[in-house]
Amino acid sequence: MTTTSVARPFANRFAVELPELARVWQAEEVPNPRLLVLNDPLACELGIDPDALRGTDGLGLLTGTLVPPGATPIAQAYAGHQFGGYAPRLGDGRALLIGELTDRDGRLRDLHLKGSGRTPFARGGDGRAAVGPMLREYVISEAMHALGVPTTRALGVVATGRQVRRETILPGAVLARVASSHLRVGTFQLAASTGDVELLRRLADHAIERHHPAVASAEHPYRALFEAVVAAQADLVARWMLVGFVHGVMNTDNMTISGETIDYGPCAFMEAFDPAAVYSSIDVAGRYAYGSQPAAAQWNLARFAETLLPLFAEDQDRAVTLAEESLSVFHTSYSTTYSAGLRAKLGFPAEVANTVTAELGEELLELLRSSQVDWTSCFRALGAAARGDVQPVRGQFLELATIDDWLARWQALDPDPDLMDRTNPAYIPRNHLVEEALDAATAGDLGAVQRLLEVVQHPFEARPGLERYAAPAPQDFGRYTTYCGT
Ligand code: AMP
Ligand code: MG
Repeated sequence: MTTTSVARPFANRFAVELPELARVWQAEEVPNPRLLVLNDPLACELGIDPDALRGTDGLGLLTGTLVPPGATPIAQAYAGHQFGGYAPRLGDGRALLIGELTDRDGRLRDLHLKGSGRTPFARGGDGRAAVGPMLREYVISEAMHALGVPTTRALGVVATGRQVRRETILPGAVLARVASSHLRVGTFQLAASTGDVELLRRLADHAIERHHPAVASAEHPYRALFEAVVAAQADLVARWMLVGFVHGVMNTDNMTISGETIDYGPCAFMEAFDPAAVYSSIDVAGRYAYGSQPAAAQWNLARFAETLLPLFAEDQDRAVTLAEESLSVFHTSYSTTYSAGLRAKLGFPAEVANTVTAELGEELLELLRSSQVDWTSCFRALGAAARGDVQPVRGQFLELATIDDWLARWQALDPDPDLMDRTNPAYIPRNHLVEEALDAATAGDLGAVQRLLEVVQHPFEARPGLERYAAPAPQDFGRYTTYCGT
């Protein structure tokens, strides 16, 4: 069998450097593989010929049944706090890290599969995934990427031809995804829990080399690593907030060291602005509600700090003090990204004083909340208002006097409509459209998924004929709930 046409040689760095945190494993056979979507540009970025991926060997690579040269597929082990409760042994129950590839920019990227069969970490799970949730991760992660939010990427989804038993019988699929790594806070939690400080150090060194090489020469590399991760996560969550993204399951095993969004399960894009917005059926207490995400991230990062204490200082009281100091980086990084982002959303370049734009922003958010206005449409319509057409904005509010007063003060500062159109998306993956497209795909019709993908991959270019994709859900769509049974 020739493999070179499909993939360049892989590395197996994680498998070799951190064998204690992995089990060498193999994907289960796929009876009838059929490609549903393929990310041609991403394949090219990885130096893989997209046409070869469409062939038999390519489908083998995308489902794990063909192991490329150099690769040692593994199921990664990790622990994690799930909704605040510690689970000491999680790990890839239905996923495999195939190996690492150097992309055309010289960056090391993981190729990882989800839905590739049971592993030693499967616990009671069947190791499988259904077509709907795998396409959902594909659509939403690619939309996030197009919106400029750091994220894992989706390379392809292959239907397996196997049935998956959930509440009903569903068609099965494997998602191939790409990340700058799959190191998680939960990976460090597992390493720390072994009490083996040398393993922990090896993991930290691996993370430094892969994600934050500059910190290797810092005076205190492990503290610098921690601060780099805190800064990356603070920046990430600020970006989520700016696009109205609710992750839904911010457990420590779903938080990366790279600062990329990972694991699109019960996530959603908020429509009417509401800090309490929550979509996941299992998040009954609203732990991961839209407005709680910055606090949830800090809580997770405090758990990350705890794992690193043995590397911070010999004296553990001193180590705790240092960790607390370093965690304060979160606030600074978060505010920097969030304020700059909100300022740009309002159409003001960096020169306009922060206090003025922050005040206008806060006032607008309060108006959006009290009038339950759609986050995405309102900011996009403000771009039109900056060009002189205020009707699209005014039409979204019931109390016209307050919005008119706000608009007058905002327009007096001369907002830049071009900056706004580059910043405020016209199209996000609207929940009702995602559901509609996934239902059709599950029934065998991929048209709606393909159209939705084309729209959300170019979120800032408003195009005639796509009005439906820019509009909030109709009233009868009701309250949106996402389910974890992915
Ligand atoms: P997630 O909610 O996707 O982050 O998954 C949490 C944990 O459950 C991870 O360890 C997954 O590997 C595992 N898991 C989720 N679904 C399945 C499944 N169908 N079979 C085996 N393990 C699963
Ligand atoms: Mg997960």
